[in-house]
Amino acid sequence: MRPRTIAIDGPAGAGKSTIGALVAERLGYLFLDTGAMYRAVALAALDRGVDPDAAPALEKLAQEIRITIGPPTVRDGRAYTVLLDGKDVTWEIRDARIDRVVSQVARVPGVREAMLEQQRGLAARGRVVMVGRDIGTVVLPDAERKIFLTASAAERARRREEELAARGEQRPRQELLHEILRRDQLDSERPVAPLRAADDAIVVETDGQSVGQALDRVLSVIARSSQR
Ligand code: C5P
Repeated sequence: MRPRTIAIDGPAGAGKSTIGALVAERLGYLFLDTGAMYRAVALAALDRGVDPDAAPALEKLAQEIRITIGPPTVRDGRAYTVLLDGKDVTWEIRDARIDRVVSQVARVPGVREAMLEQQRGLAARGRVVMVGRDIGTVVLPDAERKIFLTASAAERARRREEELAARGEQRPRQELLHEILRRDQLDSERPVAPLRAADDAIVVETDGQSVGQALDRVLSVIARSSQR
């Protein structure tokens, strides 16, 4: 039987978005990248001059803004389109300035609560692949398939460098590694919904694997009927 909901969690740069989008496409499911939602909140905060450490102001902001994630509206390599109050911010939320503040914004409990409501609402319809940090542990603890996708920090920095280069952006790998480690630390050590594998998640390591190989492994985990 096909699972209703598939949760994919893991650290920055593990390939969750790429693999998650492909899994959703293969199964004909809705794909929801929850990282994009936190990125949109971070962008709104920067645009409006809200301090990324001001929890009450961030909470208010997260409740006020309207984030919509839907199918691609432009054929430019995007897996989905992100609208922030109606404006297309799909690429803007991938900027380095967002990478630098997003984990600070995402650790605010009120921000997480606002996103959680939307995430659960979208999953209620079923046939969804949701990716993030706390999907299997907090957002959808009853997800029928839980995967924790991971790779070494060095491999993740290398992939990030390639991804940016493909978009014409050159950044030193050391700097990217440093950012990834900082984000991992903030995401893992926050008190609310920290990054961790759910007890019933299957861990998939993707070091040295191509996208196709990682996808095959994830699809075989999903097909396994022994998991709940
Ligand atoms: O997955 P991505 O790297 O785009 O996520 C950006 C940031 O959003 C993460 O570093 C994390 O701080 C936050 N996030 C989160 N919970 C999720 C998804 C993302 O806290 N479910």
